[in-house]
Amino acid sequence: MPRYEYRCRSCGDTFELSRPMAESSAPASCPAGHEDTVKLLSAVAVGGAAGSPSAPSGGGGGGGCCGGGCCG
Ligand SMILES: [Zn+2]
Repeated sequence: MPRYEYRCRSCGDTFELSRPMAESSAPASCPAGHEDTVKLLSAVAVGGAAGSPSAPSGGGGGGGCCGGGCCG
């Protein structure tokens, strides 16, 4: 069962809940009993972050010399 992280806006506490994915957006009450909580985004499975592309920009070479016997 996936774990979701929530933050209480009443006391500022963060807590985790293990609940089905279908209830991930359901209201969650903090351990102190407050109901004004927001669901935090998980650190995993969030794509689209700015970064360098992982694929090297290769290609375009006309052919290797090695293998033909010219490097020898
Ligand atoms: Zn609270």
